[in-house]
Amino acid sequence: MECKKEENLKNCTCKGECERKGKCCECVLHHKQKGSLPVCLRK
Ligand code: SF4
Repeated sequence: MECKKEENLKNCTCKGECERKGKCCECVLHHKQKGSLPVCLRK
């Protein structure tokens, strides 16, 4: 499956700069391991 990073970035609400930005699969896994939610899923 092709990475949709550029498309994902259009909908990303995270203001932080990290290497996972736009790579939602890595972002979700990272926050799951930390026990937190990705920025886009927080209220
Ligand atoms: S939500 Fe967290 S992991 Fe995802 S792009 Fe923002 S700082 Fe990075």
